Amino acid sequence: MVNPMTTETLLQDSATAVDAAAIDRAAADAEAKKHAHEMNKLSKRLHRQVGQAIGDFNMIEDGDKVMVCVSGGKDSYSLLDILINLRDRAPIKFSIVAVNLDQKQPDFPEDVLPTYLKSRGVDFHIEEQDTYSIVKRLVPEGKTTCSLCSRLRRGILYRVAGELGATKIALGHHRDDIVTTLMLNMFFGSRMKGMPPKLVSDDGKNVVIRPLAYVKESDLERWAEHRAFPIIPCNLCGSQPNLQRATVKAMLQDWDRRFPGRVDNMFTAMGNIVPSHMLDRDLFPFQTIKATGAPTADGDIAFDEEEHCGTPAPGNVVKLVRAAAIDGHGSGDDSDDEGPDRA
Ligand code: SF4
Repeated sequence: MVNPMTTETLLQDSATAVDAAAIDRAAADAEAKKHAHEMNKLSKRLHRQVGQAIGDFNMIEDGDKVMVCVSGGKDSYSLLDILINLRDRAPIKFSIVAVNLDQKQPDFPEDVLPTYLKSRGVDFHIEEQDTYSIVKRLVPEGKTTCSLCSRLRRGILYRVAGELGATKIALGHHRDDIVTTLMLNMFFGSRMKGMPPKLVSDDGKNVVIRPLAYVKESDLERWAEHRAFPIIPCNLCGSQPNLQRATVKAMLQDWDRRFPGRVDNMFTAMGNIVPSHMLDRDLFPFQTIKATGAPTADGDIAFDEEEHCGTPAPGNVVKLVRAAAIDGHGSGDDSDDEGPDRA
């Protein structure tokens, strides 16, 4: 004979189990919906910011052939991914060729990038150059190899751009790279020099663009994970990480955690330069300024402290474009001598 208590208990247990499973499913559905919503927002933000940077700095024009440098890191995969999407819906026509430089580092997985690039249906070229051996031969053991390696890589990529008929070279540096470079140049180079969104290369032959200039690194990390890019590790050369860059980057991340928005403000400040309040005599004619006798609305308040670092008056602003142009036509760009943080 069946014990009625046992049957009842069994029924209750199974009802509870069904309820728990339904709750788990509902929670998983809600989580999946939330994730999809967040990724949709992220996608819109990334495409909007890249489109905005391209427009603000006139990075890509009708008929351009854009050579996208793809290293196998999260930033360059994201750059290529977003540019392909923008190309397909842009009001102008431009083409893309992805280029990877296989530097013959030990254990470099040669098939990963070609397989991915074929799957995306994008034109691509793999340039094989054994810079690894050159660097190992020329740089003494224990010294950092990144500077020479970057210089060799840059020269090769400029040459390849010419051979492929590319009119623009796109690199995957982002907002955090730009601010970090500014800090590094201030701390160690005594210069207020960042990383321009667009420049003419030091050989005078190439226009280099950085369409991710407005994009946060953390957004690229999330995008790379979401899109499951086949990331190639960046430590194959065995180089020591660039400690100065890593230290400054950690400092900025710490600031941003403690004072949210600080890195954004620093980045925005790079586009709001007030030459009359700096000390560069080439940017402002300190030698010849004279009192005019007439008040000016955006004139300086010499004796009071600034209340805040608010928006400067329009008359005093030199846009980042100008700084970039000066940089690009000056001593040439060395801002990608940055070591393992690959674009
Ligand atoms: S970390 Fe990158 S830049 Fe530095 S030596 Fe290795 S491959 Fe070259």
